[in-house]
Amino acid sequence: MTTTSTSKADISSQPDRNCPLCPRLAEFRDETRAQHAGWFNAPVPSFGDTGGRLLIVGLAPGMQGANRTGRPFTGDYAGDLLYATLLEYGFAEGRYEARPDDGLTLKDCLISNAVRCVPPQNKPLPAEINTCRPFLAATIELMPRLRAIVALGRIAHDTVLKTLKLRGAEAPFAHGALHQAGRYRLYDSYHCSRYNTNTGVLTPKMFRSVFAKVKADLD
Ligand code: SF4
Repeated sequence: MTTTSTSKADISSQPDRNCPLCPRLAEFRDETRAQHAGWFNAPVPSFGDTGGRLLIVGLAPGMQGANRTGRPFTGDYAGDLLYATLLEYGFAEGRYEARPDDGLTLKDCLISNAVRCVPPQNKPLPAEINTCRPFLAATIELMPRLRAIVALGRIAHDTVLKTLKLRGAEAPFAHGALHQAGRYRLYDSYHCSRYNTNTGVLTPKMFRSVFAKVKADLD
């Protein structure tokens, strides 16, 4: 699968609603729009505070989560654990009710994804991950106070490293690992997907421990 090339000059932190750069994902988006006309069905924007010191990077919108609601991690299981954890550690305020108009706000924190469009079977292709990466780079550039990045899963981790022009061998992915990534600290966590929690790969306690460390380091 090829993707349309782009240059840094083309890239803002938010892709166009009809971003054509990944033909397979654009086609999938068209199909989803036809099937679910009331859903968001577009590149999902980052959510939160660009003045924050923490950036959380997920993989990609879930079909019935962010792709449906238009807010990262909102509407499927992954959001239940993520937002409960952010509320517990003071990175969010209000109530999470799995809908974008629930009034929840993020504090000192922004959530984004390595890939902005929903991929079939939650599996973006390597070329699609590369093509969407400049939007993450632009998002990082928008955050003047950024100090900590939490990567949810190996693909998010690798994407952050490439965005910051670091080699994977310098910072191998492992749950709970902490890497110095240029002027940022990169914290790794397994992704908070239902699959990972159902299989015991990630427990809520393991997930909370990552954010406890971020909070302690920032404080
Ligand atoms: S994944 Fe990113 S680069 Fe690819 S079509 Fe969607 S917004 Fe564009």
